[in-house]
Amino acid sequence: MPKIASRLDHFTESVIREMTRVANACDALNLSQGFPDFDPPPELVAAAKKALDDGFHQYAVTWGAPRFREALARKQAGWMGLDLDPDENIVVTCGSTEAMMTALMTACNPGDKVIVFSPFYENYGADAILTGATPVYVDLRPPDFTFDPGELRKAFESGAKALVLCNPSNPTGKVFTLEELTIIADLAKEFDAFVITDEVYEHIVYEPFAHTYIAGMDGMFERTISCSSLSKTYAVTGWRLGYIIASADVIRGARKVHDFLTVGAAAPLQEAAVTALNFPLSYYDDLRDWYTQLRDIFLGYLDRAGLSSIAPQGAYYVLVDVSEFGVTDDAAFCRRLAEKAGVAAVPGSSFFHEPVNHLIRFHFAKRPETLEIAGRRLLKIREII
Ligand code: GLN
Repeated sequence: MPKIASRLDHFTESVIREMTRVANACDALNLSQGFPDFDPPPELVAAAKKALDDGFHQYAVTWGAPRFREALARKQAGWMGLDLDPDENIVVTCGSTEAMMTALMTACNPGDKVIVFSPFYENYGADAILTGATPVYVDLRPPDFTFDPGELRKAFESGAKALVLCNPSNPTGKVFTLEELTIIADLAKEFDAFVITDEVYEHIVYEPFAHTYIAGMDGMFERTISCSSLSKTYAVTGWRLGYIIASADVIRGARKVHDFLTVGAAAPLQEAAVTALNFPLSYYDDLRDWYTQLRDIFLGYLDRAGLSSIAPQGAYYVLVDVSEFGVTDDAAFCRRLAEKAGVAAVPGSSFFHEPVNHLIRFHFAKRPETLEIAGRRLLKIREII
């Protein structure tokens, strides 16, 4: 038998996606893989039906349907404070998962180093390895999940070609401050490195916190590869619509990678999504209020259950400390929680570079009724587990 590639020995299948399978198998409420159990805005669904009727069945332009790129450039220019040319600064991808992979393959040669903050969204480790790059981890330390600037400088000094910045951050819920972003930006400039962002939670930020796009900071546009998607903002994770925004030089490279990886994102859904990209600003206020309500419901239950967590500033995840249960294997603990308590979470170890076993991650992108049921189950956690 021929052997499959050895690069695959260095990472596992996604633990997040595995937990969804566990949740389904034991009929647990799925607070593991982060996706909503509520529908997208009805206008968006209507636009998708219309796009199918209107005959958008064949490939769109590989780097994105023109109407989609125009609407996206307009929307993001406003939010990011940048002048964006839909023809030069955008590649539309199959979700931000592909955007990230494409960004890394565009920025890095095999053997390059990539700085990744730990804890981190699990894809980045695998993405770096598939690119042939080596991750260099820099810790984010609780309670505010900030980094030590000296440690970050050392990581840049090791010759890193790029830094991955997930902001707002999955799984910590951290929103990077202007001071932190300035340190990152200054180091990236000093060491001539790229910053590759994952900003899929850009519109899910709780007051009084605010999201800053590092691409919009002084002198950063040329070295930032901004990745994001429509998944979380419009509750369409299954549509797989993501994108990269960057300088024309970077985009020329990214288009090539994207073209040969996937050719393009779903044409009818790109047409439909123009409707969402043209939503008024009030949509984003309502989105923040909605997620604030969901966060408050879920954190209220965690609090009443006596479970210790750090309130997220953005995104829709919360890390919960389960050390009191004497957990030595958080994956086994999460499976038990799904089976016995009927609530699925992601073992925290899958987000950390260092061995961490006392945290689990819940997401709360679920209807209030779902969160109430999950919350009531968690109130009994000590009797059940
Ligand atoms: N970002 C989501 C999470 O962390 C999952 C995304 C995915 O599975 N592609 O749960």
